[in-house]
Amino acid sequence: MNKFSYQRADSANAAVSAVAGNDNTKFVAGGTNLFDLMKEKVETPDHIIDINKLDLAKIEPLPNGGLRLGALVTNADTAWNSEVESNYPLLSQAILAGASPQLRNMATNGGNPLQRTRCYYFYDLTTPCNKREPGTGCSALDGFNRIHAILGTSDECIATHPSDMCVALTALDAKVNITGLKGDRTIDFADLHRLPGNTPELDNNLEYGDLITSIDLPAEHFSNVTYLKLRDRQSYAFALVSVAVAIELDAGVISDVRVALGGVAHKPWRDKAAEAMLKGQAPLKENFEKFAGTVLQDAIGYGHNTFKIELAKRAIVRALSTAAETAVVA
Ligand code: SF4
Repeated sequence: MNKFSYQRADSANAAVSAVAGNDNTKFVAGGTNLFDLMKEKVETPDHIIDINKLDLAKIEPLPNGGLRLGALVTNADTAWNSEVESNYPLLSQAILAGASPQLRNMATNGGNPLQRTRCYYFYDLTTPCNKREPGTGCSALDGFNRIHAILGTSDECIATHPSDMCVALTALDAKVNITGLKGDRTIDFADLHRLPGNTPELDNNLEYGDLITSIDLPAEHFSNVTYLKLRDRQSYAFALVSVAVAIELDAGVISDVRVALGGVAHKPWRDKAAEAMLKGQAPLKENFEKFAGTVLQDAIGYGHNTFKIELAKRAIVRALSTAAETAVVA
C-alpha cells in the first residue's frame, strides 16, 4: 500500500473543501472496497478524508411521503430498518442478497454505489486494463469473461457493476443527493452510473470532490416485489444475473412494472420502453417471455459469459412470475 495522509472531516462542507486542495484525495466511510483497492495498488490516493463523523447516519421520512437514507447509514441498518422492510422490501431483499453480514455492517449507503468492478483483470496490475490504465487494452475481451457484461458493452470495457443494492434503487426510481465543489444537486439514481463507451475509467457521473450525502426513495410503494440473484455460490458471491422486480396488478392486468437487472452491464440495467409494453397486459408467462426477449435483444456474449443471455431471460420470467404471485404483507 502506498503512503497516504489522513484527515477527519466534521461536516460535508469541510470534507468537500479539503478535497479541493489535493486532486488525488479519496473520501472513506466503511472502506470495504477502497482499502482492498489500495492494498492491491489499484487505487493510490495520497490523502484520505474520513467522513464517518458527518451527520449523515439517519433514515428519515420525507415531506412527500418518501424516505431519505443517509449516506453513512450502513447497508445492514438500512436493510433491517422497519420503514424500509415495510415499504421498500425490494431494497431490503437486494441488500441482504449482497456481500456478507460483516461487510454489510461496515458498508454504507453512500459507499455501496461507488464500489468498483470485480473484473479480475482490473485488480491484476500485470494485465492490460482500460479502466485501470486507459489505452492499455481490455484483457477480458479475449480472456476469461464469465462474470462480464452482455449489455451496453464497448470495445474498450465489458465490466459489470457489482452492487445488488443499486439494482433495487434503480427499479425504485431513487434519487441521489450530492454535495460538491460546485454546490448541491440531485440526480436520478439511474443516471449515477455510466456505460463504458470510450471512457471506461469513469464508473459514474460524479465529478471530482462530489460527496453523496443521501439517497431518497419515492413515496410510491409496490405491493408485489422480488429480488432474484443467481450466482455461483449461495452466499458471499456477486451476481451472474440478478433481477429486481416491482409490479402492480389491477383487475387482473399489470398497471405498473419495474424491472432492473444486475450483473449484466456496467450499470444497473433498465429498459423503460419494454416496461411500457408490459403495462396493460395480463401477468402471463408468455408476456413475460416476450418482455425478456425485448430486454435482451441487443445482448452480446463474449464466450465464457454467453450463457448469461439465456440465463437473464429465464431469470426475468421467473422473477416477474414470482412477484406477480406474491403480495407483500406489510
Ligand atoms: Fe479492464 Fe473493463 Fe476490460 Fe475488465 S472489462 S479488463 S475492467 S477494461
